[in-house]
Amino acid sequence: MPEIRCRVCGRFIREGEGVEDSDGYICRSCAEKLSKKATKNTRIPFEEFRCPKCGAIVMGDLAIIDHYLEHREVLKVAKGVELRDLSDYRSLDPDLKLKAYKKAKRFFRRTS
Ligand SMILES: [Zn+2]
Ligand SMILES: [Zn+2]
Repeated sequence: MPEIRCRVCGRFIREGEGVEDSDGYICRSCAEKLSKKATKNTRIPFEEFRCPKCGAIVMGDLAIIDHYLEHREVLKVAKGVELRDLSDYRSLDPDLKLKAYKKAKRFFRRTS
């Protein structure tokens, strides 16, 4: 695994410590700060889920969308908006990202 740095503070992130979001890797403390700063209605929470099909633990919006698409080829977000890979997701507006995330996460189970 290559060395990864937090895209906000530049700190090295050890495996399993960081969170990958739509823009790159981020350390947990920056992720918390950012989620507080982000506007409430487009904020995508960092949540942890378990896949009901293969048991994988997924966390963060990218991993959740990506894993959803592994099992179900397409995620229908809204009329005329369909996701087939992560680049589709990355190009969405924040409100559609949130909508996509909410749809995808229904597929998973909460870990707690
Ligand atoms: Zn950081
Ligand atoms: Zn799975």
